[in-house]
Amino acid sequence: MNKSAVDYMGFEIGPIRPPSEQTSLLLRVTRNCPWNKCKFCGLYKGQSFSVRKKEDVIRDLEMIRYSIDALEEMEECSDLEKGVIQNTLFEKLGRNNKRVYQIASNWYRAGMTSVFLQDGNTMVVKPDDMVEILLTLRSLFPTIQRITSYGRAHTIARISDCDSLRLSKAGLNRIHIGMETGSDEILKSVNKGVDKSTQIIAGQKVRATGIELSEYFMPGLGGREFSNSNALETADAINQINPNFIRIRTLAVTKKSELYKDYESGIFTRTNDVDMMKELYLFIESLNGISSMIKSDHILNLMTELEGKLPEDKEKMLSVISWFLELSEEDKMLFRIGRRGGMLKGIQDFDMASKKRIAEICVANKIDYRNVDQIVDEMMNRFI
Ligand code: SF4
Repeated sequence: MNKSAVDYMGFEIGPIRPPSEQTSLLLRVTRNCPWNKCKFCGLYKGQSFSVRKKEDVIRDLEMIRYSIDALEEMEECSDLEKGVIQNTLFEKLGRNNKRVYQIASNWYRAGMTSVFLQDGNTMVVKPDDMVEILLTLRSLFPTIQRITSYGRAHTIARISDCDSLRLSKAGLNRIHIGMETGSDEILKSVNKGVDKSTQIIAGQKVRATGIELSEYFMPGLGGREFSNSNALETADAINQINPNFIRIRTLAVTKKSELYKDYESGIFTRTNDVDMMKELYLFIESLNGISSMIKSDHILNLMTELEGKLPEDKEKMLSVISWFLELSEEDKMLFRIGRRGGMLKGIQDFDMASKKRIAEICVANKIDYRNVDQIVDEMMNRFI
């Protein structure tokens, strides 16, 4: 048995994926985040970063292939025959066999069209290794239409144009970059480890290779003091990149994040939903000369309707924000509690009956203007 086979720890899966990768196969290429210092992010705190061996990643893929082969074989079989095929497969898969089988079954049922490379920044993987992983994916699973990954702007800006093109040609279709903000002041204060100009270089590089680009904007990250510059500086950076997608990901301050300590000590001030909607209005209003699609697909966002293509849907998106900002103070509170509590999917659900129901819940739980921000924070923290 070779060394790699001995060291192999079994199939692995990381903790998160973008909301748009719900039906994707999650393939763990790295573990955790190589930076791990952003003050708002508690996701990988206490976890050390490592790159998985290319051979181990490919072995994970072979496990999925065996499982898919078995699932295909089982299509026309009796229950008895299915049991035999499954037992043979479980012996072949070894460690984590039921988990691998479940993951493969879910992906098989979803049509096996997309793959997301985990964890926080797979762009640190040597280009030669990444190309081999991508080519293996494409050859083992010809149904794949999309392979995507998270990438830090700081890392991407340092990849040579030649290697970026090789990744694109090998089949990497989309990169998700957590820009969060284009403001240098905020980037520094939250320890993002990258500045605005590097964010722009990285974004433009991805676009130049033909790989699709998702840039994430985080309303609220500048607190109340830098709310305007969060909107304006981010819009300015985005205008220079013209990403395929702009994804809104509202800030939630988790108790295990460094930002929470800054908040407790008074260094960081919190924006509430109303402040963040004003910030979003200024952000969208300031997006010019680009053709990006805005998506509001994160569970932390208040308005799911805030989606559309620029420039044609700009006014429609601004009117969604105006709808909220023009509500009475009481209706704003009811809408916030209704959305954060999962009672409303969006604007269309906010009718007299739902308002009455939410108002009763507020009374029963002693929620009013004085504590609504705190209650909403607690509700948002439950989603993370
Ligand atoms: S780079 Fe991303 S994953 Fe890493 S600490 Fe920052 S936000 Fe978290």
